[in-house]
Amino acid sequence: MIHFGTNGIRGKFDELNPELALKVAQGIGMYFNRQSKAKLSMPIERSSIGGKIGVARDARLTGECLEHSVISGLSSVGCEVVKFGIISSPTAEYMVRKLKLDGLTIITASHNPPEWNALKVVDGKGVAVSKERGGEIEGIVNKIKRAKWKNVKKVEKYPNASKDHINRIKKLLDLEKIKKRKPKVVLDCGNGAAATIAPELFQEIGCEVIEINSKLDGSFPNRPSEPTKKNVKELIELVKKEKADAGIAWDGDGDRVIFVDEKGEYIIGDKVFGISLLIELSGPETGDYRYVATTVATSKLVEDIASKYGKEVFYTEVGAPALSEAIASGKAGFGGEEVGGVIWPDISLAKDGIYTAAKMVEFICDRKLSDVLKEIPEYFLEKTKVRIENREKAFGKIEKIKEYAKNKKWKTIEVDGVRINFDDGWTIARVSGTEPVIRIFAEGKTKEKAKKLIEEIKKIIS
Ligand code: MG
Repeated sequence: MIHFGTNGIRGKFDELNPELALKVAQGIGMYFNRQSKAKLSMPIERSSIGGKIGVARDARLTGECLEHSVISGLSSVGCEVVKFGIISSPTAEYMVRKLKLDGLTIITASHNPPEWNALKVVDGKGVAVSKERGGEIEGIVNKIKRAKWKNVKKVEKYPNASKDHINRIKKLLDLEKIKKRKPKVVLDCGNGAAATIAPELFQEIGCEVIEINSKLDGSFPNRPSEPTKKNVKELIELVKKEKADAGIAWDGDGDRVIFVDEKGEYIIGDKVFGISLLIELSGPETGDYRYVATTVATSKLVEDIASKYGKEVFYTEVGAPALSEAIASGKAGFGGEEVGGVIWPDISLAKDGIYTAAKMVEFICDRKLSDVLKEIPEYFLEKTKVRIENREKAFGKIEKIKEYAKNKKWKTIEVDGVRINFDDGWTIARVSGTEPVIRIFAEGKTKEKAKKLIEEIKKIIS
């Protein structure tokens, strides 16, 4: 059986097949039944109350097939299922709060190629289930207790999720400001789930909208679902040609977003988070929290912007569940990661690429996106990986780096591998989740500085 990773259980169709999806969904159902029963403080075996679980999916070709299995699995253990159909992941995650769900399963492989799919699991607080909690679900899979026939509930269809999400977003925006300025935006949904909400939202809030790749197609015929610079060339050209104020592109399920400024400049994920942070912290109603959460693999620009507004950075391990957890537990008031995923707690505890884009559009009503970009510190990132004999030895090497850093009195963060912070840059070394490989990232004010940091780490572990 394939295992839960940082973002659910992921595989190609011959691995993540309908049979496995059914079993895992039964485990998910039992897991959330337990959770909702814990809330009622009743012994598990004495309660027959199943959790209320949402099921959503992206537009992938295997999505509907797996959806049948997931719904069947959840109902068979007594869950009440709310079926959303194809919606963006952030829309589904907003619905957890809106409908007070006990849990959610999203059938999506996010930015992966079309032959992949995955089950992403979110709990009733809106926090994605981590690898560890996924392990608990795997443990239940072999101890499934089907519900009695009379306790199998009806599946409720809920077609209004995108409308609800749009309405929530509109409440949080200065609509008058946007309607007056009427920014011209080019949207590239990449034929993914963002197409179920983005064109309608941006029209409704008063933008002039040009859309490409907004027809749902799970084979992703026009561009790969990851919005890298190379993959959004068409968007970049169109922004320039149409003299638009901004270009916006999402990944396959809409939780991550990248921007293109009015000059056609591609804005990477790190900077999307930087811009979002700037919007959040420079606004009139910044929360009185002390920490902004980000992963140890994120650019130093986050620290720079946060400290300018008197905030500190709370570093988490890599992956969205840790970020959501940091906000859910009250440690941080805002969060985001290095790939263009930003968590706005006013909406949900999940990355919301749709709302992130709407906030950006509101922000550029009285300035140019390229000017906003000037306020984001510039760093150069270098990446490499070093293959080690086995994973055990790889972890040993990480310890060696920690020891070395300690002797040098360097500032380290050790929540996930080891990150070393310097005044003018940083570096991180982590063991890959799947291979006997150490991944090294380094960032500096110059390319040379970043390269030098990488060489230094390589020397320590050689
Ligand atoms: Mg995604």
